[in-house]
Amino acid sequence: MMLATVYKKEIKKMAKVVVIGGGLGGLPTAYELRHLLPKQHQVTLISDRPEFTFIPGLVRVALNLNSLAAIQLNLAELTKRYGIEWILGKVTDFDAETKRITVEENRIVDCDYVAIATGASFAFDAVPGLGPHGGYTHSVCSPNHALAARSAWLKFLENPRHLVVGAMAGVSCFGPAYEFLFMAEWELRRRGLREQVSITFVTPEPYLGHLGLDGLSNSQALTENLMKQRGIQAVTNALITSVDADSIALADGLKLPFEYAMILPAFRGVDFIQKVPGLGNEKGFIPVLPTCEHPEFSSVYALGVSVELPNNKAISGLGLPKTGQMTEAMGLAVTHNIGVKLGASADNLKTPTLEAICFAEFGDTGIVYVAAPVLPDPKTGKRRYSYSLQGRWVNLAKTAFEKYFMLKMKLGWGLPWFEIWALRILFGLSLLKNCDLVEEQAMISFPVESE
Ligand SMILES: Cc1cc2nc3c(=O)[nH]c(=O)nc-3n(C[C@H](O)[C@H](O)[C@H](O)COP(=O)(O)OP(=O)(O)OC[C@H]3O[C@@H](n4cnc5c(N)ncnc54)[C@H](O)[C@@H]3O)c2cc1C
Repeated sequence: MMLATVYKKEIKKMAKVVVIGGGLGGLPTAYELRHLLPKQHQVTLISDRPEFTFIPGLVRVALNLNSLAAIQLNLAELTKRYGIEWILGKVTDFDAETKRITVEENRIVDCDYVAIATGASFAFDAVPGLGPHGGYTHSVCSPNHALAARSAWLKFLENPRHLVVGAMAGVSCFGPAYEFLFMAEWELRRRGLREQVSITFVTPEPYLGHLGLDGLSNSQALTENLMKQRGIQAVTNALITSVDADSIALADGLKLPFEYAMILPAFRGVDFIQKVPGLGNEKGFIPVLPTCEHPEFSSVYALGVSVELPNNKAISGLGLPKTGQMTEAMGLAVTHNIGVKLGASADNLKTPTLEAICFAEFGDTGIVYVAAPVLPDPKTGKRRYSYSLQGRWVNLAKTAFEKYFMLKMKLGWGLPWFEIWALRILFGLSLLKNCDLVEEQAMISFPVESE
């Protein structure tokens, strides 16, 4: 029996759909919901920040190559313009049974459906001395981190000697660590400072270019080559155990001196998810069915970094990447499937394919990584395909995509048809497929490799 045939429509005269989180997943999802659902249904966006931030642009902000303002938009203005109710505030609690959301401890918002797109919180407390809050390393994961990283970077440039860049296991994306590394190296070269700086990359990946994906065609060779060409030392399989004011200690006893270090932390779900019984896993990530619906709470959907994706043996512990485009695909599935429940869309439920593309900008070159899908088939261990391509054009593509993304957020577009077609025609990627193509036994969660 397929899920599509057992799904119950809950046609309501007036439904309240709430999206929590106004980031890369939440804002396009609120737009898509507003486009799809008839006007009698209310769409509300709740976020703890007044602005939308294009998170992939934070690496450039940290290296003083762009302003933060260039990658932010005012959520109050956008939501007003496009007929979405706006609430500024942090969600502090949620009752999944009564569907009551608590904002800032005291405001109650009732809803019929909720889409959780709250991204991640950061586990700086996992290692003593890690992180910008009372520690010694920097991060580019949030606007505030990027601004702090930029001030320290400008100071570092006055007399740079040792630079360490890396990531902890459990980061949701290794790409930004590589981007920061190669762009910092390029920036030092442009300023005539490269000769005086030793650069070390420190990563829990078993080999360079693994990216939490394993088996990504050509990625290892391209990344190793680039490291060699640019004279960067790399430590793989690394476990950072502590950081003090001028060195990073690894489990094997190695100490890496630094004056500037950018280390991406492990990710976990945001506080309120961990507080609600049965909502998230032990790290605060939300388990979902292929429809992006919570397995226990049928009015709860999740998307983006807040979702629990399964690990397989090859990537265990490293963390599977949750990229922007995967996030958008999940948001599209959430919109469509809530639309089906409310009778606003045809009956076929959709699941995100989790086929991913990531443009990594490296200064005077770049690499595009494609994994279709990110999770290899649990039976064959293979992907439909994967590849990595290097070239200066990747930087242009990334810059163009950033400008396009900011424009479409200004115009109130979620995922327009031409973007979906461009991904298909240019890169062979699809975003959604019908749920009745997913085998019944895989319905309990995204397919997991059995041990
Ligand atoms: C530095 C960096 C670079 C990246 N570069 C790329 C890239 O080049 N390409 C790519 O595809 N992907 C990239 N990614 C991944 C990409 O940014 C994520 O996939 C994407 O941001 C996930 O979207 P999201 O909506 O889940 O989370 P976010 O975009 O982080 O949005 C979460 C939102 O929820 C809000 N929020 C959190 N908690 C609460 C709460 N309790 N109440 C209310 N609101 C809350 C936050 O303020 C935020 O606005 C990068 C990630 C990082 C960290």
